Amino acid sequence: MSVDGPAATFRRRGRIVVVGASLAGLRAAETLREEGFTGTLTMVGDEPREPYDRPPLSKQVLLGKTPADGTALPRRRAIDAEWRLGVAATGLDLTEKRVRLADGQEVAFDRLLIATGTRARPWPRDAEADLDGVFVLRTSDDAARLDRRLAAGPRRVLVIGAGFTGSEVASACRERGLEVTVAERGPAPLVGALGGVIGAVAAELQREHGVDLRCCITVTALEGDPAGRLRRAHLSDGTALDVDVAVIALGAMRNTEWLAGSGLGAGPRGVACDAGCRAFDVHGIVTDDIFVAGDVARSPHPLFGYQFLSLEHWGNAVAQAEVAAHNMISAGPDRRPHLWVPAFWSAQFGVNIKSVGVPPMGEEIAVTQGSLAGRRFAAAYGFQGRVIAAVTFDHARWIDFYRERIEAAAPFPPDFTGVDRPPEGIRPVSADFPDPALPTHGPTVTLSGYSPSDRRLTFTPARA
Ligand SMILES: Cc1cc2nc3c(=O)[nH]c(=O)nc-3n(C[C@H](O)[C@H](O)[C@H](O)COP(=O)(O)OP(=O)(O)OC[C@H]3O[C@@H](n4cnc5c(N)ncnc54)[C@H](O)[C@@H]3O)c2cc1C
Repeated sequence: MSVDGPAATFRRRGRIVVVGASLAGLRAAETLREEGFTGTLTMVGDEPREPYDRPPLSKQVLLGKTPADGTALPRRRAIDAEWRLGVAATGLDLTEKRVRLADGQEVAFDRLLIATGTRARPWPRDAEADLDGVFVLRTSDDAARLDRRLAAGPRRVLVIGAGFTGSEVASACRERGLEVTVAERGPAPLVGALGGVIGAVAAELQREHGVDLRCCITVTALEGDPAGRLRRAHLSDGTALDVDVAVIALGAMRNTEWLAGSGLGAGPRGVACDAGCRAFDVHGIVTDDIFVAGDVARSPHPLFGYQFLSLEHWGNAVAQAEVAAHNMISAGPDRRPHLWVPAFWSAQFGVNIKSVGVPPMGEEIAVTQGSLAGRRFAAAYGFQGRVIAAVTFDHARWIDFYRERIEAAAPFPPDFTGVDRPPEGIRPVSADFPDPALPTHGPTVTLSGYSPSDRRLTFTPARA
């Protein structure tokens, strides 16, 4: 009797193509080899360099502590792959199982991993975006250019959008002694990701560190001089600011355009997949040989009402890549679900911020340890009587405890007696998230409803 089933044959001789050669793509490739895949592996990436880490780009790199080309991702093992770098995938033929490349070539596969991530949302008017002094921050080249400009000592930096990236850029600028204005459409920094209660703390933090923070404001126009250099920004309150650098930090867009017409359930909200990382087609039928991982994926999670989650979290990219890779080379019963509890960190204005779970689902928030005034605290978010998320400011060692609470659907308000409990007791208040239909800077977790197909794009509010 043969012990060599189709899965074992595929492990030995299959052809796997990974599109997107960054964090998720690399970790998936390493897992494939680690778990015994000996077939051919092709890594397609539109960036010219080998995989590097992005979180340091808005932190150590902008502080001048690490060069922009010094964040290469450490390798867990050799992956013996054919690298096709500096060339974008432009199309996918599901029937012929081929990826089309920008150089006109095609790569055939038996199984495909889509890990094309996100890109920075550009400034909406091209002529203004092209002004010398206008930057986005997503790639190592972006970081190198911005670092050089900050080192030249601009008179004032304008950061447009106070999400995590915008806030980290503002923090780095202040640490470099630069004058910074932050313009945010919402009522506070980080409000889309963490709600108004925590947003108020973030606003105080920014102002205490000398940021000229302007909330409920939009930038209506960027103006250049005759030489094409940025000189002024016009704001929705009728005022204008003289600035020579503007950093556009308006959130990210998912890199799915290359999948248009492929028949996959892919669109602006990402590529829909099941909990095993298998992509859905436009009809909501799960595909057999197409897998998705990282920022470009959106998948249902039982802990969060089976809503499809799109996450822009480093840890998710790693965990989902590992599951996707395992499932790509495993027979059905051996496959695993991707049930990672979302977790995110940020470093800004000297504070270490961590979150776990899905804060934007929170209806209420309660400080459970420490105090907001002391800027050192843990707070839990509640949804329908259970703990759905938590955030810590300089209290990171508790994050695993809150993860367990979320996994156990522990009651909210929390009934545990932790150390460092606020003297006034645990008092839930509204978590104060803005209406999710109103665009702010874009949260890093998006709850995108149940539909696996983006043919009908309707917005599903997070707390509907
Ligand atoms: C400045 C910055 C700071 C961050 N800080 C944090 C942090 O503090 N904490 C945290 O948890 N997360 C942070 N993140 C998010 C984290 O970096 C991402 O979650 C992670 O990079 C996702 O990895 P990925 O491989 O899914 O996608 P990406 O890193 O976006 O990689 C996708 C790759 O695919 C390539 N690609 C796209 N389209 C194509 C195509 N058609 N053909 C070929 N290649 C293509 C892209 O160019 C890119 O190289 C930060 C991100 C940025 C930009």
